[in-house]
Amino acid sequence: MTRPFNFSPGPAALPEPVLRQAAEEMLDWNGSGMSVMEMSHRGKEFMSIQAEAEAHLRELLAIPGNYKVLFLQGGAIGQNAIVPMNLLRGHAKADYVNTGEWSKRSIAEAAHYCRVEIAASAEANGFTAIPAQSQWHLDPEAAYVHICSNETIGGLEFHWTPDTGAVPLVADMSSNILSRPIEVARYGLVYGGAQKNIGPAGLTFVIVRDDLLGGALPTTPQAFDYTIQAANNSMINTPPTYAIYVAGLVFRWLKGEGGLVAMEARNRAKAGLLYGAIDASDFYANRIAREDRSIMNVPFHLANPALDTAFLEGAKAAGLLNLKGHRIVGGMRASIYNAMPIEGVRALVAYMKDFEARHG
Ligand SMILES: *Cc1c(COP(=O)(O)O)cnc(C)c1O
Repeated sequence: MTRPFNFSPGPAALPEPVLRQAAEEMLDWNGSGMSVMEMSHRGKEFMSIQAEAEAHLRELLAIPGNYKVLFLQGGAIGQNAIVPMNLLRGHAKADYVNTGEWSKRSIAEAAHYCRVEIAASAEANGFTAIPAQSQWHLDPEAAYVHICSNETIGGLEFHWTPDTGAVPLVADMSSNILSRPIEVARYGLVYGGAQKNIGPAGLTFVIVRDDLLGGALPTTPQAFDYTIQAANNSMINTPPTYAIYVAGLVFRWLKGEGGLVAMEARNRAKAGLLYGAIDASDFYANRIAREDRSIMNVPFHLANPALDTAFLEGAKAAGLLNLKGHRIVGGMRASIYNAMPIEGVRALVAYMKDFEARHG
């Protein structure tokens, strides 16, 4: 069976070998006689699955020993509240950088917990470029500085790490985690939902420096208190066991593919191919400043939006799924996470050229 290429922004395509292995192990994981879905989270089988997943994630990202890895629930949207609950630590305010729709969601939620100061905003340029750090107004009294490292909807990505001095840098990395190596030590906390570039929906990852623990608001729910979850191996309540298992398979797959250095080379090649095709034609356009273009989510517009429906229908018939852009941005969006092979991008580019030849 050949499967179509799925450009969904999330939940997104998973590596086919991972899906096959999960299918093979569905009824009986490793001779246990149980599906992973049927296991106690405190049993030795699942404990070994979670421990291996964490070890592999630590290895892939070279996470330093003074960082905790938490496997939680509630999604990145949940973290928009959970981050201030845990990280304000007596501070009255936090700095946020606004680079698009996901930043705005973070800002609106944090405003329920503290004074949000906008350290920089891309609003003035129509969210087409990330403001240079020389234009940021950072407050040394802020509890933390929050960025969205990849705006999944707008298609803007940080290709540099802000320097926030002694104030911890917090990043929503939902849609570019594991797409390339990062220097975890430059961040106080990194979080995201798993369903873009890690695994199934339902799992939320948090990587947090241990000196930031211990200061949660007293009203913080236990399940969302980083300190309590860190002390209990993310098992103060039942963790999303099956999602953790599949994430673990993805981590193993990534290691087998050569890790994040190899993924970055592959992702840059895919993005280069697609942006190259868009830039080479007047029929298609991407508005984002070249140095800030996302290598994971590539929005593009047809010069004639009346052709959008025909483009999408033809794409589907050609085995290219889920290219419709987000309703806020319109047009098209190709999400090309780790699991998208370069063949999928080649097929998309060939389809785009063919469509232009027929309708241009
Ligand atoms: C998808 C996404 C979210 C929303 O995540 P949920 O898991 O649905 O809560 C937040 N931020 C970014 C950058 C995303 O891509």
